[in-house]
Amino acid sequence: MTVIKPGQTIGILGGGQLGRMMALSAREMGYRIAVLEPTEHSPCGQISDVEIIATYDSREGAMKLAETCDVLTYEFENINKETAKWLENHLYLPQGYQLLEMTQHRAREKQAITSFGLPVAPYHVVDSLEKLDNALEQIGVPAVLKTCTGGYDGKGQAVIKQKSDSNYAFEQLQGKGELIVEQWVPFIKELSVIVTRSVHGEVTTFPVAENIHRNNILHQTIVPARIPEHVQEQARKMAVDLAEGLNMKGTLAVEMFLTESFDLYINELAPRPHNSGHYTMNACETSQFEQHIRAICGWPLGGTTLVKPVVMVNILGEHLQSVLDNLPKYSTMKLHLYGKSEAKEGRKMGHLNVLADSVEDALLEIEKLAIWPNE
Ligand code: AMP
Repeated sequence: MTVIKPGQTIGILGGGQLGRMMALSAREMGYRIAVLEPTEHSPCGQISDVEIIATYDSREGAMKLAETCDVLTYEFENINKETAKWLENHLYLPQGYQLLEMTQHRAREKQAITSFGLPVAPYHVVDSLEKLDNALEQIGVPAVLKTCTGGYDGKGQAVIKQKSDSNYAFEQLQGKGELIVEQWVPFIKELSVIVTRSVHGEVTTFPVAENIHRNNILHQTIVPARIPEHVQEQARKMAVDLAEGLNMKGTLAVEMFLTESFDLYINELAPRPHNSGHYTMNACETSQFEQHIRAICGWPLGGTTLVKPVVMVNILGEHLQSVLDNLPKYSTMKLHLYGKSEAKEGRKMGHLNVLADSVEDALLEIEKLAIWPNE
């Protein structure tokens, strides 16, 4: 099994904050970093040894990456098949392309999840209003219509509260590729588990994260999640079953819904470190980024024990100024900023990890900062 040694170069496709945090961990471990990204001075580009400025599907850029790196990983998921295949053939891409291809498409993803006997909300792929109406007869309302590809942070979705909404929902998403309609899960909590599997087949999961979204963007991650121990165990087991079933290498974020009767449904997968795992950077023995680098470079995986309760809160463009004004108060809070120059509304600029004796205390400390309006 290939071991990539410190001093060798890790290539990262995509120059955003996930790439930056992977690269920072990798640098601490002694690696060189090359990044491929269309824009200059990207969050990851700023701290890389080699910056390749090219579009994700440019052959020239891919060739430069192949010349420069010893191993390739990605933080950007929407790489087209042709480029990914080329990269897989010309570079060492331990994560492979299969997982990426599967998670790029909601229906393929759900098929894979259910093939391992794991639960998802009942769904149907629909390509006409008639099929949508038939599907609603079977799964009932409320439901949600989603594009199979390209959707993120709630984009490419239309909620169907009653059957008469189907026409409007279909019109909204028609022409945006294949569609999937799924039953609305009356969840009490949204959870996620980050699972890592190394090239040697070793698997770890990080503690279950409880996620709070605002306007479909992750707002807070609370760990330990305020759910019973047996549910945490079940969630972690589901993530391990997926990682083993998929024979995956690298990192997978598994997003789930929890219902009042403690049933879990898998909502979505992301084949990379994830925003809901940023809490690990300060609160766990190993961060999700270091673990990812360990996994793809053939190191043994690190411990994932939670050292202290934590709440991660995201800093969007509109929060940045207040976050900076409050700097003298961050004695026990860990601030992470991504080096983005333009603080646009809704843009993820950084995050704050607040460690405390309990998650209640951490939530209180965040509230006292009065940066994020109460909802
Ligand atoms: P997604 O892009 O699939 O992660 O969906 C974005 C958000 O919409 C989720 O975080 C949920 O809050 C909500 N959502 C999506 N699908 C469902 C569903 N089937 N049932 C309930 N809520 C959903």
